[in-house]
Amino acid sequence: MKSISKRIPFLLAICVTVFFIMAPFIAKWIALHPSFKGALSQAHLITDFIHNILIYPFGQWVKSAWKYAIVFPYWFLVFSLLSILISKTKKIWKWGFIISLCLYLFLFIFPNTLLWFENNNQSISKGSVSNGSVKYAKRIPLRGDNYTTYSFTCYLLGRTFVHEKVRDATLEAYEICEKTCPKTKFLLGETGTKHGGRFLPHRTHRNGMSIDFMTPLKKGNKKVGLSYWNYNVFNLFGFGFGFDDQGKSGKREIDFEVVALHLQALEKAAKKNGLRIKKVIFYPKLRNKLLATKEGEKIKHLPFTKNPVIVKHDDHYHVDFAPL
Ligand SMILES: [Zn+2]
Repeated sequence: MKSISKRIPFLLAICVTVFFIMAPFIAKWIALHPSFKGALSQAHLITDFIHNILIYPFGQWVKSAWKYAIVFPYWFLVFSLLSILISKTKKIWKWGFIISLCLYLFLFIFPNTLLWFENNNQSISKGSVSNGSVKYAKRIPLRGDNYTTYSFTCYLLGRTFVHEKVRDATLEAYEICEKTCPKTKFLLGETGTKHGGRFLPHRTHRNGMSIDFMTPLKKGNKKVGLSYWNYNVFNLFGFGFGFDDQGKSGKREIDFEVVALHLQALEKAAKKNGLRIKKVIFYPKLRNKLLATKEGEKIKHLPFTKNPVIVKHDDHYHVDFAPL
């Protein structure tokens, strides 16, 4: 057993190195996923991103060929130091693990405890959605009567912060939906970080004014129950569903009427909170289907993007808000 544990840093470093070498192929595979369209030209950006993360912070200083040379020694050193640290502090790790697990479960049951630590300062949005930041952003509560967040872990990691007015408008819109589409459980997607700024893998979401809403779905006449079983890491928390031009993905189908009702509610709630909807991104072919529905007629005036965007926006729709 001992000899195996001694080899673990070596074996783990080999795994990371193989992943590093495979990065261009992984990037190509990601770029060819149906959720992205025409993004193959962007594959090198994904490769660079993976490479730079894996040899952080050296990626920005060394040239491409040297990156391949340093990845193994870098990770061998990291894993060796970690294994020494773990062996010297076994008891602390054991208790650390137990306490973290208890805390994780406690927060899953009482997620709003985290909101107690937020200050009451008014949120301030600076700059644009693609080059801005936000001060005193607030977390959107993990779940409500008719919605939940796409991932509890990502909620803990602080990926659902927004400007307080955007939070209020979002929550009030869900309240409206309790009356207009009472059978639907909604799923909140990614929004942004506490201080805004760069929010990978998104290009925008930087000033607390952007939200991704996961597209409401149905199976035949039944609404698709939203749960962590349907939305998990294997389908990128729902961001990995690929829909055809009819809005279908296997047995799942986009509930266009509900998307329209939700956007109507968002517009109403935004106005009440001194905001307006500045932009809605939804895959153009599906947008036409959405606007052709009875409820869709009422949101024709919303500022849907005309220009194509790299990410398909079928499994989710993106909304940018702005002051009235
Ligand atoms: Zn988005």
